[in-house]
Amino acid sequence: TDTAPVCSGCGAELQTLDAARPGYVPASALTRSPAVCQRCFRIKNYNEAATVAVDQDDYLRLLGGIAATRSLVVHIVDVFDFEGSLIGGLGRFVGNNPVLLAVNKVDLLPKAVNLNRIRNWVQQQAKLAGIRTVDVILFSAKRGLGMDKLIDAIERQRSGRDVYVVGATNAGKSTMINRLIRDYSDLDNEVTVSRYPGTTLGEIRIPLEDGASIVDTPGIVYPSRLTELVPRRILGALMPEKPIKPLVYQLNSGQTLFFGALARLDFAEGERQSFTVYAGAGVKVHRTKLERADALYEEHRGELLTPPTRDELADLPAWTRHSLRVPAGAAKDVYISGLGWIAVNGSGGALLDVHAPKGVKVLLRDALI
Ligand code: GDP
Repeated sequence: TDTAPVCSGCGAELQTLDAARPGYVPASALTRSPAVCQRCFRIKNYNEAATVAVDQDDYLRLLGGIAATRSLVVHIVDVFDFEGSLIGGLGRFVGNNPVLLAVNKVDLLPKAVNLNRIRNWVQQQAKLAGIRTVDVILFSAKRGLGMDKLIDAIERQRSGRDVYVVGATNAGKSTMINRLIRDYSDLDNEVTVSRYPGTTLGEIRIPLEDGASIVDTPGIVYPSRLTELVPRRILGALMPEKPIKPLVYQLNSGQTLFFGALARLDFAEGERQSFTVYAGAGVKVHRTKLERADALYEEHRGELLTPPTRDELADLPAWTRHSLRVPAGAAKDVYISGLGWIAVNGSGGALLDVHAPKGVKVLLRDALI
């Protein structure tokens, strides 16, 4: 026939070309019977989930499918890249199903932060983005922080229904699912995957004791994040591993901060004030005079200004400029998706120019911390 073979686990069309996409199977395993993709095979045999990715159009179709079910939607977002990992309009796509916002990577926040404040902030921002949430849970999949709370909240909200886990790539969805499988399911070695009838979307079902399932969906790729734009090698330098150590700079107007050669912040106008940088330790911050910034970049990008290295720079889009006005008396963050943010105390207001690779989301938001 002309229809391509599909995975008997998740229903995705089998393919041998791209391991990050649904239905991938190594060519050597194509003849496996029954035919099953690598992701389903790994979950079934090693209890190990891995995120496969689809683009935005495919993802919206997938979300649309959830609207026809009765389920609880658990949306994993990354607290370090909140706006970059939030699925805007999620509420519209999943219909009447409740959405639980699971905010991952809280281990990266500086030790002294007030988590209640963060939670309120998240709730507020989600509302602005049109997502009505039944609960907001802060957790860390990698460190195992807040997992009990997350499980409790899921149990409380799902009332016997299936649980759909959705999120952007890199938000930590597979780390979370793996923790669920390993630490919270009795099923352990019995985990099975079974095709959800009528879909070919790469959903994987992990059965729960009451007959319902946790459904792992592919991750959505949002290319507006620096983490999706940079070559893989640079990712380690971008993504913090440990709690962020904020760096405070007192700047006068006419000064510039470089973040490696990844982005640059010009303080164009305003009274002397503090700028607090929240970024991975691998990103070197360099202060200079605005009038010297262009020349410095030409001469030292990829060396003094790093990451990336000079070779890697060739793989990054050219910068575009974003002009931002910080109103007087407001505590705001200049947010650069995937890189982090810079808190501006804004006592007297400020005019800022941010230079970042074309396509990266840059915006001004209410201060997170
Ligand atoms: P997925 O694409 O959503 O499945 O994301 P992954 O589970 O593969 O995680 C993406 C990256 O984030 C990996 O480098 C993880 O190690 C990291 N990560 C996941 N959870 C956490 C967390 O709780 N804290 C920190 N600091 N990193 C995390």
